[in-house]
Amino acid sequence: MDTIANFIGGQFTRPVAGRYLDNHDPATGAVYSRLPDSDTADVAAAVGAARQAFPAWSATPARERSRLLLRLADLVEANLDRLARAESIDTGKPVSLARAVDIPRAADNLRFFATAVLHTQSDFHDTDEGTPGQGGRAVNYTLRRPRGVCGLISPWNLPLYLLTWKIAPALATGNTAVAKPSEVTPMTAFLLSQLAVEAGLPPGVLNVVHGTGPGAGAAIVTHPDVPTISFTGSTATGKWIAATAGPMFKRLSLELGGKNPLLIFADADLARAIPTAVRAAFTNQGQICLCGSRVLVERTIFRQVLDGLVEGAQRLHPGDPLDPATTQGSLASRQHLDKVASYVQIARELGGTIHGGGAAPSASSLPERVRGGAFYLPTVISGLEPGCRVEQEEIFGPVVTVQPFDSDDQAITLANSTPYGLAATLFTQDATRAHRVAARLDAGIIWVNCWLLRDLRTPFGGMKQSGLGREGGAEALRFFTEPRNVCIGL
Ligand code: NAD
Repeated sequence: MDTIANFIGGQFTRPVAGRYLDNHDPATGAVYSRLPDSDTADVAAAVGAARQAFPAWSATPARERSRLLLRLADLVEANLDRLARAESIDTGKPVSLARAVDIPRAADNLRFFATAVLHTQSDFHDTDEGTPGQGGRAVNYTLRRPRGVCGLISPWNLPLYLLTWKIAPALATGNTAVAKPSEVTPMTAFLLSQLAVEAGLPPGVLNVVHGTGPGAGAAIVTHPDVPTISFTGSTATGKWIAATAGPMFKRLSLELGGKNPLLIFADADLARAIPTAVRAAFTNQGQICLCGSRVLVERTIFRQVLDGLVEGAQRLHPGDPLDPATTQGSLASRQHLDKVASYVQIARELGGTIHGGGAAPSASSLPERVRGGAFYLPTVISGLEPGCRVEQEEIFGPVVTVQPFDSDDQAITLANSTPYGLAATLFTQDATRAHRVAARLDAGIIWVNCWLLRDLRTPFGGMKQSGLGREGGAEALRFFTEPRNVCIGL
């Protein structure tokens, strides 16, 4: 069985207290590796190493930092098969998805920020007013400097993609980092730390500490020498981090949960809208923060869309994630499966109609290797009150609800009716309506006639309880740097 190690100061280390956690393959239920159950002592060592590496790394020319990150990106790509397999075993997602999306996009993150830092601009202001009688001309310029040690905490659904989304801008701008991947899916971060050595990243620039949220994560959040925290995960954890790190005046980026609406108007191109809605609901077993988990449909086409969704869901039968032909894998853990199933049970009790799915697949329908896995059939539910828990709370699984609407205003009210505001999608052929509705949707990203297209230059993040701050492109370069304005009197 593999034993995952922490990566601290360029060394692969055992946890100080010697404790380990089991790492499960959710598709089989088997324990396939173990990971350090790190605590404050391990985090202190990692922060110490990152602090020590900071002066040299922040003084390293951007071109050299860029070169090393590009080398790391090349190595991620060169190890595509190995990383995709590890990600599939850790998460239960189809290996085809990890191969086509997660791992290539992790390399893209590294490349994007490695090159973005070579093309930044600084602000300059020519000041022509001053104290009357004392002249008044000055020039101002704004220096942007790295902030020091960054704490980077990521979830289990897109493990390598989301970790590199934080590591790349933090390191490219000259910070050093202590990263903590989810304890549910640690393997790709471990492999990345091995590749960091191969890429020649100086010791201490990137440190990876494995362990639980309360054990290792909280120790990073509360460490006084970590002024910057970038967190992606649940809203509940985000609230705790905000309450804890706020009084310490840390800079925070919180990318949290979602309950994203997908609106289909009667004038939509249904040949495009329905398959996209199926993809938006069930890709990665519905475990993407950007999944469209509430489909809102104009009443005149409600039946047609509902039938199309149910048909689409029924075509997605879970299979062995390691089989390249599988398109629907296992949920990330048995515990998460129980949570997802409990919401379907609530929907039943509330009188919702379950259209297919609503259960785990029968053992006989699954390949023998994965009969002990955390599988759940794609499920479509209609007939619930928009204010009920199933419509309001994040389920984060292969479960989608469908609601009818009668007007643009009602569609917008329903879309904005949850505490979340991460993403929204709308399908209409009417360009005016698209702009009008998009401007009124409370979401950080609004897709029109498409879903999940991401340009890394655009700001990324949510409104309301979906988060604080924005990452992506220039926003990330700003987040990880501190402006210093220099005013020179002339
Ligand atoms: P989670 O909040 O349980 O855990 C996320 C990470 O935080 C893990 O590494 C965990 O160990 C750590 N953690 C937990 N408690 C902590 C604490 N007290 N202090 C510090 N760290 C702590 O979330 P999860 O279940 O791993 O991930 C699923 C959630 O992530 C969903 O809500 C999903 O919507 C969200 N998510 C959001 C985005 C986004 O960009 N907005 C992207 C992906 C996932």
